[in-house]
Amino acid sequence: MILKNKDVLGLESLEADEILGVLEIASRFRAVFDRPVRNVPIMRGRTVVNFFHEPSTRTRISFELAEKRLSADIVNFSAANSSFKKGETLRDTAENLAAMKIDMLVVRHSSPGSARYLAQVLDCSVINAGDGAHEHPTQGLLDIMTMRQRLGDLRGRKVTIIGDIAHSRVARSNIWGLTKLGAEVTLCGPPTMVPGALERMGVVVEYDLHRAVADADVLNVLRIQLERGAGKTFPGNREYHRMYGITEDIVRGLKPEAFILHPGPMNRDVEIAGEVADGPRQVILDQVANGVAVRMALIYLLSGGDPGALGGSDKG
Ligand code: ASP
Repeated sequence: MILKNKDVLGLESLEADEILGVLEIASRFRAVFDRPVRNVPIMRGRTVVNFFHEPSTRTRISFELAEKRLSADIVNFSAANSSFKKGETLRDTAENLAAMKIDMLVVRHSSPGSARYLAQVLDCSVINAGDGAHEHPTQGLLDIMTMRQRLGDLRGRKVTIIGDIAHSRVARSNIWGLTKLGAEVTLCGPPTMVPGALERMGVVVEYDLHRAVADADVLNVLRIQLERGAGKTFPGNREYHRMYGITEDIVRGLKPEAFILHPGPMNRDVEIAGEVADGPRQVILDQVANGVAVRMALIYLLSGGDPGALGGSDKG
């Protein structure tokens, strides 16, 4: 059994062997993408509800595609047109959904801990698709998969995460996952966005961008989370770009094989220059493709899929 619990709520609660097991299955699904028929009948007759209480483009579409490729029945549910508008609580909504006999709930919500809460009150499996600034485990897994495809074993590899760490669930999931796999993680950004206390998570905090990226194998560039109040913690977009933006000049100073991730959506010319976002070092579309594979793997494993029943894998 690769996953020990019925839910995937964060990378804090997954062990290194669970992470590696999921990525192995994800790489087998990834291999299917190049075939003319990409759907597999594994989840036929099972129902997955996508419950998105906060805006999402990439993650929602990616989950939906993953579910469709596994042939699951899907119900999409967003807060905007639901009974939340009439004051129904999260618990009541979730219990009503569960009473309709669903097999899995994918939830995005602005409150940290909401996915854990739903996992406690529901019998079905819950996958956290992002809970406030807490965790975004499928993003963490797809980032790690993308890094491993290029680097193999991450032990001793240097990953620098740059940006709005304080508001970032992507950063937190990356930190948990990467440190469990033995990578050396450095965090960089303005002090108002990178609290020094994060060093307790076993990472290095470095406020000087040039020093933070000098010997990095990977840069993971985060979005400035304007909707979570990040705009108040730095003087302006231009100032941020000048101090912490990943520009061509910064890229010239990187190790020749270093590469750049961004979880999207990008604020072009704020955290990342347009030329870098379109340039040869970025692996953003690999991340997106791996995201579908990672989500297929989690859904498959949580619904009791047999890892041995899938064919051979590519690496990653
Ligand atoms: N799409 C990612 C998330 O939902 C990253 C971001 O929004 O900045 O957290």
